[in-house]
Amino acid sequence: MNKENIRNFVIISHIDHGKSTLADRFLEITNTISKEKMHPQYLDSMDLEREKGITIKMKPARMEFEGHILNLIDTPGHVDFSYEVSRSLAAVEGAILLVDATKGIQAQTLANLDLARKQNLTIIPAVNKIDSLQAKTEEVQEEIMNILGVDKNDVFLISAKLGTNVDSLLQRVIEKVESPKGNEDKPLRALIFDSKYDAFKGVIAYVRIVDGSIKSNDKIYLVEAKSEGVAKEIGFCIPNLVSKNELNAGEIGYIATGIKEPGKVRVGDTITNIKVEGSFEALPGYKEPKPMVFAGLYPENPDDFETLRDALSKLKLNDASLIFEPESKEALGRGFRCGFLGSLHAEIITERLRREYNFDLIVSTPSVVFKVVFKNDKVLNIYSPSDFPDVTQIKEVKEPWVKLEVVTPVSFIGKAMELLQDLSGKYIESRYFGKDRTIVVYEAPLRNIIVGFYDKLKGISEGYASMNYELLSYEKNDLVKLEIFIAGKKEEAFSRIVQDDKEFKEARNLLLKLKEVLPSQLYSVPLQAVVNGRVVARETIQAKRKDVIAPLYGGDYTRKRKLLEKQKKGKKKLKARGDIHIPNKVFFDVFRG
Ligand code: GDP
Ligand code: MG
Repeated sequence: MNKENIRNFVIISHIDHGKSTLADRFLEITNTISKEKMHPQYLDSMDLEREKGITIKMKPARMEFEGHILNLIDTPGHVDFSYEVSRSLAAVEGAILLVDATKGIQAQTLANLDLARKQNLTIIPAVNKIDSLQAKTEEVQEEIMNILGVDKNDVFLISAKLGTNVDSLLQRVIEKVESPKGNEDKPLRALIFDSKYDAFKGVIAYVRIVDGSIKSNDKIYLVEAKSEGVAKEIGFCIPNLVSKNELNAGEIGYIATGIKEPGKVRVGDTITNIKVEGSFEALPGYKEPKPMVFAGLYPENPDDFETLRDALSKLKLNDASLIFEPESKEALGRGFRCGFLGSLHAEIITERLRREYNFDLIVSTPSVVFKVVFKNDKVLNIYSPSDFPDVTQIKEVKEPWVKLEVVTPVSFIGKAMELLQDLSGKYIESRYFGKDRTIVVYEAPLRNIIVGFYDKLKGISEGYASMNYELLSYEKNDLVKLEIFIAGKKEEAFSRIVQDDKEFKEARNLLLKLKEVLPSQLYSVPLQAVVNGRVVARETIQAKRKDVIAPLYGGDYTRKRKLLEKQKKGKKKLKARGDIHIPNKVFFDVFRG
């Protein structure tokens, strides 16, 4: 296929605005997937995605339409996954900007739009869900016109659900998006924009061929990793992998590298078929993603430590933003300190470990990085509240501050402001765009944003408000460690760092939350919050009302045990830790605040 007839594009949109549904329609009208085989959100293949209704991993799709090849890369919409978006942007020439007519433009979409403009992509805006009774089609159309500085006619009005105008949108992609540049006669340069592990084929790299071409069984060389492999199989993603003999400049496809070590195939690296020589220039690659949120993952069963390491390496392949390092804690055993882009990212990774690899995990409260200066002037980065030093050793502590942008309809501004005030941050400014939308800019400690702020913002705004943040600096603050004791035993996983003057409030809230989400036991359980060795709050979880062994008190021991065994069976999913069972879910319920 002639390069002139290729169009590579992405859909930029916020979660739930209809990206996957639009992709479904594209797959249908191009006859890539027959109507009988079609099921909703076709490109979302993970169970977790279907359940949560969100796209975590993009899956490329190659379609043929009116004599053209259309390569679509689906992108995730959640704030934690902007890294994924920037990767897909580097592999394409155009972007459909898709905005839900019932919701309007969201903060993260604005951020992604910025990224797309920086890459000089052709932007094709479209308002989706115009069929919905709640659609404010014209208002949203106007918002987009303001932001992009385009005419009314340039903004498509579509219904991905019904297929309205989807056909002409695809035609516009062909008209407006540039065909890929690149030279077939130059040496191969293929940009890895994603990868996954296959037990038989080794690491499979998803690539955009920038220059040159590759044939199956060609020897390949990964420039940055300096490792060699063989293109055991190459081909297209339609969206299932279909092998071909050759991939040429401008095309998007996959290369099964035959490389078995996950760490060697890195997203952003360049694949070539020669040893690098003087004139050869590797592709720019990507900025390393900076994890902002850290949490400890500990296998429930200590024997699983090595298997967990293996599973994390494989997940990292597919998610370059995940970082991990072994650590061990007295109370928790051996595990890994992991860095994530945000708390949703943390939740998704642990959930994937649980489902895809069957691990039972203990997860410590997600934390930011604290830069601690000790009295003896030693400086340490502290990634976990449990490592936070005693207040007597500390000279000063700095923590990350971010610029936070909240985009909200005007009617929710009051409630959004209330939430923002709780962040112990600083109001900067508000700006209006469109008829009914405001961006509120705030600066605040990231620590207060990662524990449930996003969920609360969604809650107070009926889902309409959205947010985005970026790191500004590290700022000094008076911080102390809050520790939790359950039935007299310290539960390291729940420790957190709080502002000195907020310790009582935070302690109380945390205990109330624990009381709400911890299952009650056969006996009453005291909960205590401790700061610097002093109890600052306490609560009690009352004993379960129905005590199965009470009637047998002092009675036959074996019977008593049998009854307890029976009760235990019902709790198979619970984690046995010390005397108290802490279900997996409790960890995340608590972080969400
Ligand atoms: P994504 O998160 O952006 O991939 O969004 P999805 O494609 O998963 O769609 C989110 C929800 O919006 C689903 O319940 C869809 O059925 C619904 N939806 C998508 N497009 C339309 C549309 O054109 N009209 C209406 N009424 N609903 C739609
Ligand atoms: Mg989706």
